[in-house]
Amino acid sequence: WLFPGGIVSMRSLSRSMLQPEDYVHVLGPKLSPLDELRSVCHATGQEDAFYLCNVDDVVHKMELWRQLLPRVRPHYAVKCNASRVVLNTLAALGAGFDCASKGEIEEVLSLGVDPSRIIFAQPAKPATHIRFAAGRGINLATFDNEEELYKMRALHPKCRLVLRIRCDADDATYCLGIKYGCDAERDAPRLLRTARDLGLQVVGVSFHVGSGCREEHVYRRAVRAARHVFDVAEGLDIRGMRLLDVGGGYPGDPEAEPVFRKMAEAINSSVAEFFPSPDVDVISEPGMYFVSSAFTLAANVHSKREVRSEAGDLESVMYYINDGAYGSFIEAVLDTKRFRGVPLEAHGESCDAVPSSVWGPTCDGTDKVEDGNLLPPLELGSWLLYHNHGAYTVALATGFNGLPTPKVHAVVSTSTWSQLRDRAPFTESHFVPSLATGRRHTSASLADPHPCV
Ligand code: PLP
Repeated sequence: WLFPGGIVSMRSLSRSMLQPEDYVHVLGPKLSPLDELRSVCHATGQEDAFYLCNVDDVVHKMELWRQLLPRVRPHYAVKCNASRVVLNTLAALGAGFDCASKGEIEEVLSLGVDPSRIIFAQPAKPATHIRFAAGRGINLATFDNEEELYKMRALHPKCRLVLRIRCDADDATYCLGIKYGCDAERDAPRLLRTARDLGLQVVGVSFHVGSGCREEHVYRRAVRAARHVFDVAEGLDIRGMRLLDVGGGYPGDPEAEPVFRKMAEAINSSVAEFFPSPDVDVISEPGMYFVSSAFTLAANVHSKREVRSEAGDLESVMYYINDGAYGSFIEAVLDTKRFRGVPLEAHGESCDAVPSSVWGPTCDGTDKVEDGNLLPPLELGSWLLYHNHGAYTVALATGFNGLPTPKVHAVVSTSTWSQLRDRAPFTESHFVPSLATGRRHTSASLADPHPCV
């Protein structure tokens, strides 16, 4: 095989253990993720919707995080996008993981990640999941109510516990406080006392200000409330409070980077003010931040219908694509986000653009992706791209109507490949030439492996 940067013998590599979604396609020199996306779209027989994941983007996010929040160790919220390439990349970069269930814990441990890098960040855990965590050495978990304390006492008494408090952003897409998090003033003292009396070890405080947060000030309010809980614990003679978990909520789209920078400043200054001692570890649970911009969805236009006036004039076009509300676009139904598909190949001049709606593939009338988009005329078989589509998309896709969920095709630049190739859980075997590289250099390198197409 001709790899960018060297010759690698295909036979010397053991690929038998790897699944298609494990492969990362190394882009040849001067090739971009968009070149690879085009190559996948144009591969023979390719019709299914798929994701292109740009691993460089995830790596960039980690670099930015470390630069802006050097005291805060991120624990990636697996629920946001559990694609193998994301977990492998973040594990290789030394991230911790926020797991919400037995299944997520199992997945992360299967990568060889040490249990000490996992927080079981779910305040209401089924008993079987607690037993599983106890058996696998997951010794850090959140709680926000008494019943959970009794369960933990019975099933995992050695677990270090983190009290989740409620502090909601005024401006966020999803409020999590309606479901989780106790009141720091009213409930925390009672819960801390109960934990102490049960002989349980409470080691810190967590919060989640809400997903898709758009304001930075809430982080200061939350850190101050956490300080209050630390002080209450001290008054109750609870020693060993050493962990502050500043949760998630950070945006991940490129245009939201200024907001993220302001959030980082708010966290840094409030942590410095309220938790000046370096003995307090600060962690976080970002989901959206790490994956949103790394993923582009490519969906195929398989059908269309023209809508005409009685006089026969074209009023609009309805396009049907092979991903929708029951796949990667749940937010279209929840009405929490507006989507705008971008044609892979522009056809005609912009003056040809026609008001268009885009519909998902199921028989459900609510399965609509977008409306009112001015799109150039699209032929059947055209591709629509949805950028910044990595957060709570592929993770929520169902197989409703017997339709496949999109697979992930991952790419990496040669420079990032050279950073990651020796870092567990990656091995040399994970990396294969990009389809675009194959097109340019030799058709033989397209032969195998051939994930997700
Ligand atoms: N932590 C917990 C406990 C969550 O419930 C969530 C999202 O639901 C996250 C972290 C990730 O949040 P975000 O994707 O907004 O960063």
